[in-house]
Amino acid sequence: MAKKRTKKGALLVISGFSGVGKGTVIRHLMSTHPDYAFSVSATTRPPRPGEVHGKDYFFVDRDTFEKWVEEDKFLEYARFFEKAYGTLKDHVEDLRNQGKTVILDIEVEGARNVMKACPEAVSVYIIPPSAAELKRRIEGRGTETKEQIRARMEKALSEADIVPEYRHLVVNDEADAAAEEIHGLLNRRKKTRMPREDALELTKQIQADLRNFLQEEENCDKIN
Ligand code: 5GP
Repeated sequence: MAKKRTKKGALLVISGFSGVGKGTVIRHLMSTHPDYAFSVSATTRPPRPGEVHGKDYFFVDRDTFEKWVEEDKFLEYARFFEKAYGTLKDHVEDLRNQGKTVILDIEVEGARNVMKACPEAVSVYIIPPSAAELKRRIEGRGTETKEQIRARMEKALSEADIVPEYRHLVVNDEADAAAEEIHGLLNRRKKTRMPREDALELTKQIQADLRNFLQEEENCDKIN
């Protein structure tokens, strides 16, 4: 009897403001639905406490990363915060060929390139319920210096302009609800809880609030 061919899995690109809680949403998605697999990226940044090589990232040195760029091993890659991050082509293809829906947790430049190269990809941008909540989550992580937090907020600010390019915008108020929402979108069963226009409006508001936070901090630094 002929062996049943496995249907190739989908590509799910998930981006979101740094600190928005993407990781938690993705973990929820993967723990409740076994058909998802995480694309483990390569990065030149050092591991944070608790991060595992091969599970969270492939932590590689700069020379290895550059060699892989030359060898065309990346589906996309990007450089920011003086570090490089890249999605490995073969790794993603292997998982998709096993029928898995592959989750790419990547930032906007990389996402843009994937959307161009793979128009079938489903793209989701995760937004926080408010800028104040985003700031609280970034600071609450406790693993970064003030400068690093500032750099992340500045990146969040610049990313906001690209948000309308994503197919879906999902608010992360509760991670499990956001995860289920994404699962529903992927299976074309449901719409987002927040209408697109409202989510775009909220994004603009967050952008304005972040700008104010950064300005206030700059003023404080000048005084001190
Ligand atoms: P972190 O250093 O906090 O783990 O990640 C920083 C940013 O890099 C996040 O926005 C994450 O989505 C993004 N990122 C992680 N892996 C990749 C990748 O392979 N390619 C791109 N373009 N961005 C990535």
